[in-house]
Parts: sequence; structure tokens; C-alpha cells
Amino acid sequence: MDKNIITVTSPLLPDLDEFHSLLQQIWDNKWITNNGSFHKQLEQELADYLGVSYLSLFTNGTLPLLTALQALRITGEVITTPYSFVATTHSIWWNSCKPVFVDVDPATGNMDPEKIEAAISPKTTAIMPVHVYGKPCDTKRIQEIADTYGLKVIYDAAHAFGVKENGVSVLNAGDMSTLSFHATKVYNTIEGGALIVKDAETKKRIDDLKNFGFHNETTVVAPGINSKMDEMRSAYGLLNLKQVDSAITARKSVAKTYYEALKDVKGISFYPYLKETFNNDNLHYNYSYMPMFVNAEEYGMTRDELYAKMKEAKVLGRRYFYPLISEFSTYKGCQGADRSNLPNAHKMADSVICLPMHHLLSDADVNRILDLIV
Ligand SMILES: *Cc1c(COP(=O)(O)O)cnc(C)c1O
Repeated sequence: MDKNIITVTSPLLPDLDEFHSLLQQIWDNKWITNNGSFHKQLEQELADYLGVSYLSLFTNGTLPLLTALQALRITGEVITTPYSFVATTHSIWWNSCKPVFVDVDPATGNMDPEKIEAAISPKTTAIMPVHVYGKPCDTKRIQEIADTYGLKVIYDAAHAFGVKENGVSVLNAGDMSTLSFHATKVYNTIEGGALIVKDAETKKRIDDLKNFGFHNETTVVAPGINSKMDEMRSAYGLLNLKQVDSAITARKSVAKTYYEALKDVKGISFYPYLKETFNNDNLHYNYSYMPMFVNAEEYGMTRDELYAKMKEAKVLGRRYFYPLISEFSTYKGCQGADRSNLPNAHKMADSVICLPMHHLLSDADVNRILDLIV
């Protein structure tokens, strides 16, 4: 790849020698998948690191979403957000349920809890919110509504790795939460993911479901799927877990530099919570993305023009999330997908650009990016 290109992200990679020595152990053991020892160790270490009780590893971040809906026997309608990665809604569709879109809170990009009740129908069985860019949803309010109407809550927490409020992991909210360990995320196992549940019995059910529904050698308890993480990626994941904190510290420093340089630029803005994360000891944030908003009139250039200008200079931003999920042809006819129902989400999708954000960005890189924007 052209060394001059600044990509929007760069994967956290383990030390190759250390990885090689773990691979040697796998070669010695000759056990390469199906709940091997690195798989077990990674489940335990991730649960400890994240501050959750029960975690089940998956081969990516989409299958835990599908499996959560299966395990909770969700049917009918699921209330969700259009401002996310398309996998959120796909998981609902793959479970033969109908997504119902509600608008987002302009201050956070997360589902606006005050819009949920109006979207509830007799067919509603669940709510699937997303902790957008790792910022926790209003989990308390969402739970109150879910309890009032007897709904399940499944959080797509793909962005919320390691995020804690007052020392408590946001991954404990709701009935279940999912993570993605894709190469582009803060913490990666190349491809990978996890499902976080509340009790040992549910974890056993999830472990069965991700292994074709096998409960033991001869009993299949449900139409399961195959989503078992192998030993190589588990070993890779163990090594990355040791360095994810320093990667997040590096990201925080990049975020601060961006923020300080851009906060007074006319027509450029960030979520108001960003500044608070820098000094708020009660929120452990992960700086998984660097979303910036462009007000074309004030800035003198549209978001797309800035995106193109950056690309021309070999700086790759990402219009994330754009287009909204509700704009894809499959979902355009769904309830709540109409533009008039989603003014905040549309405004965000039309003005957002995620700046390059990863642990390897140098001061020189950041300055090169800033020169294009200021
Ligand atoms: C990355 C992502 C997913 C999908 O994860 P994969 O590991 O790529 O399958 C789902 N939801 C959100 C919000 C994501 O960002």
C-alpha cells in the first residue's frame, strides 16, 4: 500500500514473535478449534477485563446479534435505530422480524428513548439500540420503557469495548449485549465478536447455539449455527488484550489534539460529550471513532467536498454512518423509515465525517490531516 496514505483506521496487531510462540503451542497441542484452551482463556480474560459475568466468543460481531434474537425468541417487531452499521438491522431481518425505526438524540447519535413509546405496537417484542461510537445509551430510561411494556433489550455494543460508567461496564445493560472484534474496531481478533449474557444457564444455551445447537455429543436442542472462534484467533486476541489499554491511551491523545485544533473552527463541531470524556473520571471512554460534523453554510464547504478534498490528499475519512440504514432499498418501506420520521438521524448522516483514528497516528500525521480541515 502507498505509505503516504493515511487510512481511517489501522488494526492493533500483536507482536509477531509472541504470536509465533502461541502458534507453536497450538501446533504442539494439535487442537485448533471447538472450545480449545486459548478460547477458554480468552473468554475468561475478556470477561474479567470488561467487567462482565458471562461472555461467549463468536467468529464475528454479526452472529451474536442473530443468536441473541434467536435465544430470546424474538418475533414480530423490533424497535431500532437507523444510525448504525447495517448489520444491526440485518440481524432483525434474518430472524424474520420487522425493524421499526426511531430517531436519534442529536447530542449523542444514540436512539432517543423518548421516541420509543410511540413506536410500540402489540407486535413489538424487543428494542435493539446501539451505543454509537461507544457513547453509552440512556440505558436506565430504555430499561424503564422495556419493563413497562414487557420488552427485551439487546444492545449492539460493537463500539463499546471497555466502556465503563462509574466503574460499571455498559455491557451489563439490557438482556444481552454484543461486541465486534473486527479488524477495524478498537480491539480486534481479525474477525470476531462476543455475546454478553447475565447467567450461566443462558451462556450454556448460547454456547450450544453457536455450535449447531449441540448440547452434548448426541443431543441437538435447537436449530443452531456455527460461530465458534478458533484457537489461532483466540491466541491473537489474548495478545491484543494486553495492549488494548495503551492503544486507547494513544487514541485519547489523538482525540484531544483534534479537538483542541478544531473546536473553534467555524462550521465544525463534535458531540458535546467528547470534551467531557477528557477529564471525566466517571466515564471510561474508548475513542473508537472520531466523528466530526460539518455545517456546510458556516464552514463554506459541504461534508462531501471536504471528504473528497481529503481523499485527494490521501487522507481517508469515512462517512460513517451514511447512508442511514433506513435508506437502503431493503428497509425503505419499513415502519418509521420515512425521512420525515428521522430528521435528527438524517442531519447527522448528511454532515458526519469520521476522521482517521488509531493508535499509530503520529503528530505529523495529525498535523497533515488538520492542515486540510482548518
Ligand atoms: C462492526 C459492527 C457490527 C458488525 O460486526 P462484524 O464483526 O463486522 O460482523 C455490527 N454493528 C455495529 C454497530 C458495528 O459497528
